[in-house]
Amino acid sequence: MQTSDYQRLDRAHHLHPFTDFKALGEEGSRIIERGEGVYIIDSEGNRILDGMAGLWCVNLGYGREELVEAATAQMRQLPYYNNFFKTTHPPAVKLAETLCRLAPPHINRVFFTGSGSEANDTVLRMVRRYWALKGQPEKQWVIGRENAYHGSTVAGLSLGGMAPMHEQGGPLVPKIAHVRQPWWFGEGRFGEGRSEGQDPETFGRECAAALEAKILELGEENVAAFIAEPVQGAGGAIIPPASYWPAVKAVLAKYDILLVADEVICGFGRLGEWFGSVHYGLEPDLMPIAKGLSSGYLPIGGVLVGDRVADTLIEEGGEFFHGFTYSGHPTCAAVAQRNLELMEAEGVVERVRDDLGPYLAQRWQALAKHPLVGEARSLGLIGALELIDPATGERFDKALAVGNLCRDLCFASGLVMRSVGDTMIISPPLVISHAEIDELVDKARAALDATLARLAD
Ligand code: PLP
Repeated sequence: MQTSDYQRLDRAHHLHPFTDFKALGEEGSRIIERGEGVYIIDSEGNRILDGMAGLWCVNLGYGREELVEAATAQMRQLPYYNNFFKTTHPPAVKLAETLCRLAPPHINRVFFTGSGSEANDTVLRMVRRYWALKGQPEKQWVIGRENAYHGSTVAGLSLGGMAPMHEQGGPLVPKIAHVRQPWWFGEGRFGEGRSEGQDPETFGRECAAALEAKILELGEENVAAFIAEPVQGAGGAIIPPASYWPAVKAVLAKYDILLVADEVICGFGRLGEWFGSVHYGLEPDLMPIAKGLSSGYLPIGGVLVGDRVADTLIEEGGEFFHGFTYSGHPTCAAVAQRNLELMEAEGVVERVRDDLGPYLAQRWQALAKHPLVGEARSLGLIGALELIDPATGERFDKALAVGNLCRDLCFASGLVMRSVGDTMIISPPLVISHAEIDELVDKARAALDATLARLAD
């Protein structure tokens, strides 16, 4: 079949996630046929550097035969069985042990799911159940952050703070509140009511103070948990000021509120540690995981459960009426296990921390001098560029959709970057080489130049 055949059938029958169906009908989809290392290859034979690792997940890159072999061997042996009702199978047990070995010491249990969204549904049930078992059933409120993404199930979108999703979502799950995100560029430096001379660290502490104010507004006796990503991914690769997490930790400790660190993006090496929480010295009670767990080769997620919650659920909880047909799916678990083994054997995480992260940071920072860029930031292998209008030094009018223009020009020049408003994001495979980082930065610069030229037209 040719590109146009795929596009015709796609238009006729396929409803894509997060897509304006009508616009897709006019333009037609890009058809991606193959992947090799950090590249994807489309149906016209174009090689495109995947600066987003798919959806922040193809950590080991494309085309790893070892993962194909792990899936094939497990499918021959036992393609599917469940973990319900006191049964299990070797891949789930091995993966549980591996995950708990890699996780911080206070985490020794995992509950498997099929995705990150299901992991966050599980989180919501677990935190409310935990407090009920502890004799504090009124502790039901969960506080998330504005503009956060925690999944597309009703619980996931309720925990998340994306206004357009809330508007389309119908009635949301009750007793979930949101506080501001620690996005210095957009809400500090260019925020409403910004004050002259305010600095990122003061702003970080203000965000933690906003959390405390929300806890007091809801009543500290009613708040069960706070959920946040160590670095907010889909919200715009928001790397918090250094003051933020220590101040948030202190607030949570003061009111005895559980911390849920959503590690769906930050986990498995993205920030140069096995978990983003380790980078920030957090000790979360619960860590939802997915994506990089299997390098995206097969769908699998889970919740890593700290001893405090796990011991209560186990000792006092009786049966937990919760689970998914594909919780700990053997083929997915075998692939995830192999993925983690390869990451360990190849020192992928250490390499991100000691070599690739610093190298990207230095190359990426050079883009801050581009007239269209107001800020360039990165940590490990996640990064963002904030676009500004060179004529005014201010942010662009949102309606101009400059970020989307830049993203499309980027794709045309052979690089996938994502735009969230006017924030351009990268999150490449963790096996990217120095030469490929150079290529990524050069292509990003070319896309910025092309965007500038278009704006001048
Ligand atoms: N949590 C975070 C931080 C995510 O970025 C995502 C997906 O992008 C999810 C949860 C949901 O994961 P999934 O798409 O596997 O359901």
